[in-house]
Amino acid sequence: MSDLRELYQEVILDHSRNPRNFGRLENASHKARGHNPLCGDDITIYIEMEGDVVRNISFEGSGCAISTSSASLMSEILKGKTLKEVRSLFESFHEMVTGDPSQKAEVAPEMGKLAVMAGVREFPIRVKCATLSWHALMTALGESGEKVSTE
Ligand code: ZN
Repeated sequence: MSDLRELYQEVILDHSRNPRNFGRLENASHKARGHNPLCGDDITIYIEMEGDVVRNISFEGSGCAISTSSASLMSEILKGKTLKEVRSLFESFHEMVTGDPSQKAEVAPEMGKLAVMAGVREFPIRVKCATLSWHALMTALGESGEKVSTE
């Protein structure tokens, strides 16, 4: 288990030092900003939708290792996903990081690398860091989101 934990920490460190899909997305059809005052994380998510498929996604901003790596991992896994799949992943992710800390997280196979975030449930103060980009994503895609017109 400790080896696994080290591997998880390596992935998190890697993504926080070299975040994937970092930067503004010029063709974004949706965007939203998430702010976590508890930690100072401030992340803006950009999404380019094609129909109900995530064609491209990126993020920018600054934050701690957990919020940055979570946004980076999220951006990697969501490319090519349908809205329905995005919602399902959001729910699974939320459940994984907010579940009972005394229970081991059950991680669905479709979560892929997002599984590295499972340990966050043991650190309640970090949950907001891990879920920040996801909440911004859902705001961007959802009814309450700020929609950026490209027309
Ligand atoms: Zn944070």
